[in-house]
Amino acid sequence: VPALTPEAPPVRTTCPYCGVGCGVLARPDGQGGASVAADPQHPANFGRLCSKGSALGETLSLDDRLLHPEIAGRRASWDEALDAVAEGFRRTIAAHGPESVAFYLSGQLLTEDYYVANKLAKGFIGTPHVDTNSRLCMSSSVAAHRRAFGSDTVPGCYEDLDEADLLVLVGSNTAWCHPILFRRMLDAREKRGTRIVAIDPRMTQTGEEADLFLGIRPGTDTALFSGLLVHLADNGALDPRYIAEHTAGFEPALERARQIAPTVPATAAATGLSEAEVETFFTLFRTTPRVVTATSQGVNQSAQGTDKANAIINCHLATGRIGRPGMGPFSLTGQPNAMGGREVGGLANMLAAHMHFTPEEVDLVRRFWAAPNIITGEGLKAVQLFEAIERGKIKALWVMGTNPAVSMPRADRVRAALQKLDTYVVSEVVANTDTARARNAILLPALAWGEKDGTVTNSERRISRQRAFLKGPGEARADWWIMAQVAKRLGHAKAFAWPSAAAVFREHAALSEFENRGSRDFDLGGLADITDAAYDAAAPVQWPLTRKARAPQTRFFANGGFYTRDRKARFVAVQKPALAQAVSDALPLRLNTGRVRDHWHTLTRTGKSPRLSAHRAVPFVEVHPDDAATAGLTDGDLARVRTAHGAAVLEVMVTPGAQPGVLFAPMHWSEANTSDGRVGALAQGAVDPVSGQPELKATPASIAAEPYR
Ligand code: SF4
Repeated sequence: VPALTPEAPPVRTTCPYCGVGCGVLARPDGQGGASVAADPQHPANFGRLCSKGSALGETLSLDDRLLHPEIAGRRASWDEALDAVAEGFRRTIAAHGPESVAFYLSGQLLTEDYYVANKLAKGFIGTPHVDTNSRLCMSSSVAAHRRAFGSDTVPGCYEDLDEADLLVLVGSNTAWCHPILFRRMLDAREKRGTRIVAIDPRMTQTGEEADLFLGIRPGTDTALFSGLLVHLADNGALDPRYIAEHTAGFEPALERARQIAPTVPATAAATGLSEAEVETFFTLFRTTPRVVTATSQGVNQSAQGTDKANAIINCHLATGRIGRPGMGPFSLTGQPNAMGGREVGGLANMLAAHMHFTPEEVDLVRRFWAAPNIITGEGLKAVQLFEAIERGKIKALWVMGTNPAVSMPRADRVRAALQKLDTYVVSEVVANTDTARARNAILLPALAWGEKDGTVTNSERRISRQRAFLKGPGEARADWWIMAQVAKRLGHAKAFAWPSAAAVFREHAALSEFENRGSRDFDLGGLADITDAAYDAAAPVQWPLTRKARAPQTRFFANGGFYTRDRKARFVAVQKPALAQAVSDALPLRLNTGRVRDHWHTLTRTGKSPRLSAHRAVPFVEVHPDDAATAGLTDGDLARVRTAHGAAVLEVMVTPGAQPGVLFAPMHWSEANTSDGRVGALAQGAVDPVSGQPELKATPASIAAEPYR
């Protein structure tokens, strides 16, 4: 932590909220707080912050902080707590094998923390069951990238948003959830006349600001983009040279698209749009070379999310609109370090450093780590992982920086399952989350934003530093340090003996280029020898950054060079859209869950700011006027929303922009701050068969008036 003097320059750091990854200047006040301002030099935000980012200084109070380790509600010393974790894991492994241990991580963790968790679990404990709340965020896009590109490579960069002539926003309320990128989009419209199309089942602020809003039926994105592929093919808008030289599988993908949406009228019928709306969108896309299609949770949080993302990528590959200025599919990551987790392999279907489970990759990672217990295959993804706890297959769990008892689908079952664990460890900043409240938990106080030190990677592959500018309170420690202490107690001191976050980062970078893995996208070799001083001073930089090139590569794939064996991209023949669960007489509506502008996740940080809380103060549900009339509801009433998995009591917002038959409720509120507003408990557990990402946007539901109590 830098010494504070009135003249000290502000500390450059990165906003801990969304995946835009804006640069922040923080100036500590010497009283435990700080003022924040936008960093004019950071290439994500160039001197702007949104409502959440600009209120960061209001969220630094120590109220609710976990200040000391606890074991089953009793204050403990660090030695006692770390011994208890190590002993619990050792006992569980002895009785049930290493695969009875699991880790559940978070896109809030820094890359260095993620790296250590992944190494400990997959190389030394020997369990593949490491997953993350990013499974709920963008894993369908990761899977789609891998199917199409052979690797999880984001083809473009933020400049493409500035340089596009058409921005297609699919399942993304960008204006609320990635506000600074949306500002850049509005600037592009002002400067170059860029047109914005928003595609979403509900009217949002993004939809209101768009030039064209397409209110599609829930879950029909694949039909829309299949229809678009057919339209491009039938109107001479393909790029035959790009298709022939750089791709494979076009004909089967087009044939499948013709089966799903052969014409404009068929596309309109499948999506619920008018033929004129479909025709307008198709014509815009066909006639505008510079087009970026940006996607977010409306695409990802679906039992067909991977197909949705591939249907979009198909259209970009077919027109060669990828990796060139102002062109490409672009997945907007939700969390500040969702991308960093992908880099280290902190997902159950990855090993490390964009490697998977070929024998060569397993051997390479084993040798690099000198790992005694390297895993050889995939582990359980988030929904399966918590189901395995319910079934008693997983006996020990370490949760870091996330609140699955609120945010997982069927969250009531998740919360009950946590009570069954033999060893339950929670590394947290906040003492009182629904997840940390379990009677059996070992609670480990972690450093928060402003106190911890490391790196995060944003949606455009740009690595930025999060720097400490406040002293950690109580006995809080860095997550990577906590895990290294447990590793030492498990007999792995040598492999976990880093003196600093910088040393962890160097090892992570070195693994990415170990034995010159050749045709790989993720390579940080140029940073493998970074000194502590250079790490401290590091400016934001995009990967890959190879030892040879030493300069980052901004875009990928304009000239092919995909990461498949033949270096060609793959078109994907996607499945016909179908929602995972049908509505019924008892549950005639669909519940779409999401976020509001000024809150983040489960309110542990934004809930501390009265200014942010004032935007939406209570848990609510948006209801179309027709559905409200049917249920006898008016604005401000209380209503009970039910699904097959639970019920929540929410304030009614009669919303003409809602689609008839579709409710929308935000997921932020938990038992810690409201008695009945836990919306995660209502969502179904159906998952995408490729990515394992759960459907959070279309659970069959009912709504009825709830008397005031
Ligand atoms: Fe923070 Fe995202 Fe807002 Fe930028 S856009 S200030 S990263 S919340």
